[in-house]
Amino acid sequence: MIERGLYIDGQFVEALDGATLDVLNPHDGELLAQVSEGGPDDIDRAVEAAGRAFPKWSCTSSADRGRLLLRLADIIEANAEELARLESIDTGHPLRDTTMLDVPRTVATFRYFGGMADKHEGYLPPADAGFLNYVTHEPIGVVGQIVPWNFPLMFCGWKLGPALAAGNCAVMKPSELVPLSTLRLCELIDEAGFPPGVVNVVPGYGQRAGARLASHPQVGKISFTGSTATGREIVAMSAGNVKRVQLELGGKGANIVFDDANLTAAVNGSAFAIFHNQGQACIAGSRLILHEAVADEFVEKFVALASSIRVGNPLNPETEMGPLTSAQHRGRVLDYVQIALDQGGELLTGGRAPQDPACANGYYIEPTVMRAKARDRVSQEEVFGPFVTVTTFSNEEEALEIANATDYGLGSGLWTSDLSRAHRVARSLQAGMVWVNCYKRVGPGSPFGGIGQSGYGREMGFEAMHEYSQSKSVWINVDARIPAWYPRPS
Ligand code: NAD
Repeated sequence: MIERGLYIDGQFVEALDGATLDVLNPHDGELLAQVSEGGPDDIDRAVEAAGRAFPKWSCTSSADRGRLLLRLADIIEANAEELARLESIDTGHPLRDTTMLDVPRTVATFRYFGGMADKHEGYLPPADAGFLNYVTHEPIGVVGQIVPWNFPLMFCGWKLGPALAAGNCAVMKPSELVPLSTLRLCELIDEAGFPPGVVNVVPGYGQRAGARLASHPQVGKISFTGSTATGREIVAMSAGNVKRVQLELGGKGANIVFDDANLTAAVNGSAFAIFHNQGQACIAGSRLILHEAVADEFVEKFVALASSIRVGNPLNPETEMGPLTSAQHRGRVLDYVQIALDQGGELLTGGRAPQDPACANGYYIEPTVMRAKARDRVSQEEVFGPFVTVTTFSNEEEALEIANATDYGLGSGLWTSDLSRAHRVARSLQAGMVWVNCYKRVGPGSPFGGIGQSGYGREMGFEAMHEYSQSKSVWINVDARIPAWYPRPS
C-alpha cells in the first residue's frame, strides 16, 4: 500500500493533526493508499512556505524558470510509464488513455510553458512627448489552485505550468479522491531542482483545506476547476481579500450532426466525445443533436458502437472504458437514468452496471444512450458520466436553439461538410470552444475555458500567462517640461 505525506516547503510531512485519507481503487473498491489529509493549519503553513519562496523565485530570470519547467517535462517523460499506471490505478482511466493522452499532454503543457516563460514580454504604449511608459507583467505572489478528480495529472500541467512560468509560487489542493499522481509529481519537481516552497501540494477535503485556501488572506489568486456549485462558494470565499479568481466549471456540450456530415466520422468522433474518460470530462459531448434525416441511421450505428466498447480493468491494455472514479459518483450517474425515464426518456443502451463478474466490485457503468427532450433535466444538468442524450432537429436554426438552451457554455461541436455552415454555426454557438468535424481537441497553446455558468478566465496559451500575472505601468519623465499646474512665483 502506498503512503504519502503532504508536500510543503520541499518536504513530505504529516498533517499537523495526524489525519489521513483513504484512497480507494475504483476497479475493486480496495484500499490503495493512505495519504495525509491536510487541514486549514496545513494550508496555512503551505501558504507561508510559498510566501517565503516567492521573493527569490519571482526574481529568478524567466529563462531559468523556463529551464526548470523544461527539465521537469523531460523528467515526467522519462517516468511516463509509471505515471500512466499510477493515474490509471487511482482514477480508473484506461491505461491506453493515460499512456496516449494524459501523460503526453502533461509533458507537452509543461514544455509549452517552459518555452513561454521568457517570451511573456512587456510593451511600450505610445506616450506623450518627453515620457517613456513601459508595461511589465509581474507575478501575483502566492496562488491557490483547487483541482477536481477527473484529470489530476494533466491539470497539474495546466495550472502549475503557467503559474510558475510567470513567477508565482503555488499551493495546490488536489481532489481528496485521487491525490497520488500529483504527490508523485512533487518528487519529480524536487528532482528537477525547483527551490523548496515554490510548489506545495496539500491533499484534503474541500470544506476544510479547500475553503481555507480560497479564503486565505495571503493568497492573491485562486484558480478553481470543479463544479459550478462549488465555484459559486469560491467566489464568495475569495471576497475577504478581493483575490483574483479563475473558474473552470461544468459543461453540457452540444454535439450537432447535420444531414451532410460524414456519418462514419461523426459516429466515431461522437463516441470519443462522450465515452472517453467514462464521460467524466467538463467538455464531454453529452448532448447529441441530430438532423432528423440522418437520426435513425446515426443512432443505429452509434448504439452499436457504444455497446461494443470494452469496459473493464483500466490496467488491461485492451480496455476502452474503465470504472467511474468513485462509488458515490456512480450512484449519481445511475440516478440520472431514472430521472430521464421519469421524464419520458427512452433508454437505447446501457443504463446499468456491466454484467461481467470481474467488474462486480468496481464503480462501473455501461456506455449509456438515452432519447430525451431538450428541456428534460438530463439534457440540462451535467451528468458527468458515460451518458449521452439524443434529440433531433429539422433545421439549422432549431439546432442552434437546442444547443444554446443551457446555462453552460464550455465546449460544443458540429459535424458538416458545408464550409459556410461550419463557420456560421461556430459563430453562433454560445461556448468558449467549438470543434468542427472533431471533438474535445485541446492544446497547450489554445485558450481553454467557458462562458456563462461554465465560468470565466482561460487556461493555457498566452491567456494563461496573463491570468497568472498583473500588469504594471511605469511612467518616466525623460525630458518633458511639465508646466506647473498651480503656477506661483518661485
Ligand atoms: P467539486 O466542485 O466537487 O470539487 C472540485 C474541487 O473543489 C475538489 O478539490 C474539492 O475538494 C474542492 N472543493 C469542494 N468543495 C469546496 C469548498 N467548499 N471550498 C473549496 N474547495 C472545495 O467538483 P468535482 O466533483 O471534483 O469535479 C467535477 C466537476 O468539475 C464537474 O462539474 C466538471 O464539469 C468540473 N470540471 C470543469 C473543468 C473545466 O475546465 N471547466 C474541467 C474538469 C472538471
